[in-house]
Amino acid sequence: MQVTPLWQKFKQLGLLDKQILSLVETQADASAQIQEKRKTIVANEELLNRMTTAYKKIAHEVSLREADIAAALAKIAAKEKQLEDVTNPKQQVALEHDVASLKKSCNELEDRCLEQLTELDSHTNFMKHDAPALQQQIMQLREEIVAIERALQTTQETSARSKIDQDAIISTITPEWFAKYQEMKTHIADPIAPVIRDTCGGCFYEVLAQDLVRLKKNAILPCQSCFRLLYCDVEEAGK
Ligand SMILES: [Zn+2]
Repeated sequence: MQVTPLWQKFKQLGLLDKQILSLVETQADASAQIQEKRKTIVANEELLNRMTTAYKKIAHEVSLREADIAAALAKIAAKEKQLEDVTNPKQQVALEHDVASLKKSCNELEDRCLEQLTELDSHTNFMKHDAPALQQQIMQLREEIVAIERALQTTQETSARSKIDQDAIISTITPEWFAKYQEMKTHIADPIAPVIRDTCGGCFYEVLAQDLVRLKKNAILPCQSCFRLLYCDVEEAGK
């Protein structure tokens, strides 16, 4: 039966470490994206709520103002009708004074109403065009979040499988080597590195000549600089 050299097991462990590490980065990136999109959704919803409330308020004010104007116009019409029949000059002067004063306040109401109508116009415009666009954006962001969450789920499953694969490899190495690997893992997330062009694949520190000789004879040695556990795959080392 052919025995797998220890360095090959460490090579597998190292590749899985790298894969898990990159998945962790992908997951962190995805989580950040989700958070960012959720923030935008909340901001859009707040803006929509604020604008809807403002729109309702101004629409209500305009309708009240219009009712006030209608009431004022009715009063003016009634006074003018009285004027037609009045014979007493004093009463006539008093009525004319009333009509003038009513017309003045009615004009003020109309001016104020015009200002509010302009305001209502801009709010109506927002409700017609901007509000649906914001709602559309919220829906799109929600869909994007669902897609990212689905991808996140996949990377989590891949991570879990990689960890199971690592456990399987670890179960075939001696407790001493496992202890070394564990010890390194507490310091560095990817504690295993290949020799690449006579340097450490983790920190690119040049490997000592005598170490290279031993590494090429299947030894596993720590890097003199970063202390990662080095292995040498002669088929790949020169690439
Ligand atoms: Zn190194």
